[in-house]
Amino acid sequence: MVKVLLTGGSGFIAAHVLDVLLEHGFDVVTTVRSEEKGRKILDAHPSTPKEKLSYVIVEDIAKEGAFDEAVKSDPPFDFVIHTASPFHFNVQDPVKDFLDPAIKGTTGILKAIKAHAPTVKRVVITSSFAAIINPHNHAEVYSEKLWNPITWEEAQDHAQVYRGSKTFAEKSAWEFVEKEKPGFDLATINPPLVLGPIVHYLNSLEAINTSNARVKDLIQGKSKEKLPPTGTYLWVDVREVALAHVRAIEVPEAGGQRFFVTAGQFTNKQLAEIIRETYPELESKLPPKDIPDDLPANVYGFDNTKSIDVLGIKYRSLKDSVVDTVKSLLAVGA
Ligand code: NDP
Repeated sequence: MVKVLLTGGSGFIAAHVLDVLLEHGFDVVTTVRSEEKGRKILDAHPSTPKEKLSYVIVEDIAKEGAFDEAVKSDPPFDFVIHTASPFHFNVQDPVKDFLDPAIKGTTGILKAIKAHAPTVKRVVITSSFAAIINPHNHAEVYSEKLWNPITWEEAQDHAQVYRGSKTFAEKSAWEFVEKEKPGFDLATINPPLVLGPIVHYLNSLEAINTSNARVKDLIQGKSKEKLPPTGTYLWVDVREVALAHVRAIEVPEAGGQRFFVTAGQFTNKQLAEIIRETYPELESKLPPKDIPDDLPANVYGFDNTKSIDVLGIKYRSLKDSVVDTVKSLLAVGA
């Protein structure tokens, strides 16, 4: 019996990680911010016994000592997967809303594990392509070898704070392991835009996760007149992201490594065309067929070979991902 602590269990990505962990035979304790969210998760897994799945409350990962109790368990934890971090566009205070929870959440859980959970062998952290990309001077080919050079000052800008939060959080994790030499090693999963089915028991349309919002907007006719700019031209399906987290605890060689998990390039125009082809009944909601694609001719490339070679990830097609995403959104009433 191998036991995993999964933070942010109510999140879009974490809900999929949780299911892959259970499928692979792990016992899981997940952190959530409220009893209500914890209950929803247990209710959605009625045949999973409580020794295999339970939750603990961590209301705010930015608080000093937030994880000190959560990392203690009987039997004790073998692995920790830390996904919880803010991802939305509702910035009031860059430090309080983004930088603190991302950075203090990460260093806080690492400190707590070192102090109170000596049996933990590896910690896997959900980082991001945001910690790789250099939006002011794009690389020709992006891979996990690269780092976003963003500064603390630049990260105060509301448009850049999310990328700053992910960059500084991941850096602080690698620094912690190097300086503190804890009994665990570290792996990070760095996905770009994550698409894929939402987990229905956690989501309502009003609270759809940030990265699927563009698909929801397309099928609700909100991008009919004007297709918003794609932004980042790389994507991955949430099921591959979830599997990558679990493989990162299962594969010994994953320790000490970052993994850039991406299926490849995409544009919002391509999303619209896939929906047009596969859901003809949604035609009236979609932008016109002749709307131009915004993929730049010199768009950056990507190198995802490490995720394939070390973690054994097989990436599904954009079409399969979009079809399943739309299906899941229609099921909650989009
Ligand atoms: P969600 O918003 O669905 O999940 C975020 C999770 O973090 C939620 O469980 C949320 O809890 C929790 N959380 C946020 N802030 C706090 C806090 N202060 N205290 C406690 N819990 C908190 O987003 P995703 O699933 O998309 O994101 C999960 C991770 O993946 C994040 O680290 C994100 O940066 C990363 N990521 C996501 C990508 C994407 O395209 N989706 C791309 C690359 C990386 P609650 O719901 O209760 O607020």
